[in-house]
Amino acid sequence: MAVAQKAIIIGAGPAGLLLAHYLLRRGDRYCVELYERRPDPRQGEMSKARTFPISLQERGRKAIRAIPGLEEAIAAQSVFCQGTMIYRPKSKPRRIPRKNKILCTDRNELVSILLQELTQRYSSDRLKIQFDCTCTQVDATAKTVSFESNTEEQFTTSYDVLIGADGAKSPVREFLVQNTGLECEQHYIPDAYKSLSVSRINPEKGLSAEPDLVHAWTLDNNTRLLLVPQPGDRLQGTLIFNAENNPLEGFSTPEEVLAFFQEKFPLCGELMTLEEADTVLKRQIARILTVRCDRFHEGDSILFIGDAAHAVSPSIGQGCNSALEDIFILDQVLDRYQDDWSQVLPQFSQQRIPDAHALQDLSDYSFPRNKRLIFEFFFRLQLGRLLHRWFPQQMKPFVFDLVLDTDISYSEVLRLNQGWINKVKRSLA
Ligand SMILES: Cc1cc2nc3c(=O)[nH]c(=O)nc-3n(C[C@H](O)[C@H](O)[C@H](O)COP(=O)(O)OP(=O)(O)OC[C@H]3O[C@@H](n4cnc5c(N)ncnc54)[C@H](O)[C@@H]3O)c2cc1C
Repeated sequence: MAVAQKAIIIGAGPAGLLLAHYLLRRGDRYCVELYERRPDPRQGEMSKARTFPISLQERGRKAIRAIPGLEEAIAAQSVFCQGTMIYRPKSKPRRIPRKNKILCTDRNELVSILLQELTQRYSSDRLKIQFDCTCTQVDATAKTVSFESNTEEQFTTSYDVLIGADGAKSPVREFLVQNTGLECEQHYIPDAYKSLSVSRINPEKGLSAEPDLVHAWTLDNNTRLLLVPQPGDRLQGTLIFNAENNPLEGFSTPEEVLAFFQEKFPLCGELMTLEEADTVLKRQIARILTVRCDRFHEGDSILFIGDAAHAVSPSIGQGCNSALEDIFILDQVLDRYQDDWSQVLPQFSQQRIPDAHALQDLSDYSFPRNKRLIFEFFFRLQLGRLLHRWFPQQMKPFVFDLVLDTDISYSEVLRLNQGWINKVKRSLA
């Protein structure tokens, strides 16, 4: 019997954990070691500081579904939404139904379930997971990687394959940029965000937000609020604003925050308690880094995936979907080349780069910022749906519906909507 390859995965986020499921499912060919900088989410209350809502559609869900029982486990802790309720100042709320239901969860919940399912299925002789352990160095010649634990203990271990699933600021990718000439553009997008959580129901005021819709507000200055239903009648949300123009700037009390939400996002403001407003006040502002690389691998043994390879703006909610889809595609390439990583890695880069670049354009330019184009956007959305219903073979739906309701490749979605994307790009120039 062939000796199992030692696959080291850096980062136990959605991409790293799903990859561990896929590799271990390939039988005795792999043993997996996973190293994660943060603490074990199963021990005690995980800090909610970095959690935010995640909606998964077909691209992400098909990747999860390929592991028997996994989608059911995630669905049991999620809420399915039928569409979005759009709120704009001085207009009536507008319901945009979706053809396929959206699976709504939050990042920490998703990670916890992926992890729990992994440890239930595989024993420690094939799977080793170490938390509080930061990757500090890679030596591609010796095929070793070094770590520092939270107790400042340092150690080095060898790998057959090394996979950086270590997020937008990936140290594995940075090592390749510094040492191998990997080309990688990184930009902070102008938007910043604060996450928040409110109850979906306020029994005292007899108020509630609809349980099966994502609630989305856009103000005239492009400050946006997204509230996504979660189990237990909670709404997990994100307030997105221009980093130079923080709408909560100068607020020092929860009363001021609450008054802001009551004025600008009335339904949310009525659902929010003073305690929740205080949490929003104290929560740190986060920035979003986007990443665009010319390849996703080095030689025959280093790969980076998910946000490490192609972090995008969350404007169309595709970062996690595409990170999970990476694993689905990698698995197909592993089948095609019988786990010969010297062929698998260049093939994966070649196949996935066009989609990753297309996704960046779609994320940056699908949704317009100026009023006239927002009107045109909704007009095109409705028209696209109508024409597609009448002539399903000839007419494809508009960009959002293609991204959210199908798993057509991102490059094909971009090709079909290049005119619109160019128009939005010009309007933002
Ligand atoms: C506000 C917001 C809303 C979003 N909404 C959606 C959505 O609705 N739908 C969607 O598809 N996507 C969404 N996304 C994007 C999505 O969260 C990411 O694309 C997804 O989490 C990427 O998964 P990942 O595993 O590649 O990276 P990450 O989730 O970033 O995980 C990387 C892991 O690596 C660890 N790590 C980093 N450095 C080291 C190191 N040196 N050593 C060890 N471990 C390390 C990190 O601690 C982390 O756990 C959203 C993002 C934001 C910010």
